[in-house]
Amino acid sequence: MNVALFGGTFDPVHLGHLAVARAAAQRFELKRVYFVPAYIPPHKLRQPITPFGHRYAMLALATAEEPHFLPSLLESPERRPEHGANYSIDTLRHFKRALGRSDRVFFLIGIDAFLEIATWREPEALLQEAELIVVSRPGFSLGDVGKALPPPLRPPEEVTKAMGQQPAAGEIVLPGATIHLLEGVAESISATQIRQAAEKGRSLLKLVGAPVAGYIRKQGLYRSEPSARRNRARLAMSAGAGSGLKVLPGGKPLRGK
Ligand code: ATP
Repeated sequence: MNVALFGGTFDPVHLGHLAVARAAAQRFELKRVYFVPAYIPPHKLRQPITPFGHRYAMLALATAEEPHFLPSLLESPERRPEHGANYSIDTLRHFKRALGRSDRVFFLIGIDAFLEIATWREPEALLQEAELIVVSRPGFSLGDVGKALPPPLRPPEEVTKAMGQQPAAGEIVLPGATIHLLEGVAESISATQIRQAAEKGRSLLKLVGAPVAGYIRKQGLYRSEPSARRNRARLAMSAGAGSGLKVLPGGKPLRGK
């Protein structure tokens, strides 16, 4: 069975995430796509993040009608991160223990996130453990993808230079890494844009599904009025109790480490 992990902060999950997961599921015949919200995303330690429970609840709503998509608790607060933050390589190794030998594992990632992969924990091991599906966007070349690989896997400079002329499409197969480029599906939606729109009280219906938009509105997420702030602080305190999170005066939790 072909399965994929799709990791992220999902603060909140949006239509862009769903579009790429649908396209990947179709192209690679994925029977399961696990959306894995990180309790403590290592690359977002300095910014406030909505409590895990809310982000998971929104994923459950967004995937409810999708037969092949599931929200995952692989990086939940109960499974305390081994290294103080949730690293994809730990999650992937843990996930693979439950799979059979015939299962084929993919790791789904946007090209923006992929360009940072050399800075991740054990990037070569990650590339060895799963085939990557990198969601490409216009303006990126195969050379950008090649240059982003961790140094031991990176093709020589003359090769990445030549790859710079080619769009980020097709496949890169190297000893120890298989990277599939998925093009033509990325939408220009980001979670940042949604948080900003919610803060201004704008409609979110073109950015997230209706159940998620309703949840954001009812819970007062991403609002900065005093009443919403107080409400969020209470929620964050209960969600963060015993989890090592600190709550900022603005109501959002700050990572303790
Ligand atoms: P933020 O704006 O808060 O940084 P985000 O929208 O990028 O958030 P994340 O949860 O950080 O969402 O992203 C999870 C994964 O989804 C990452 O691999 C990211 O590159 C990818 N991704 C996010 N938005 C899109 C999109 N519109 N199209 C394709 N991939 C996306």
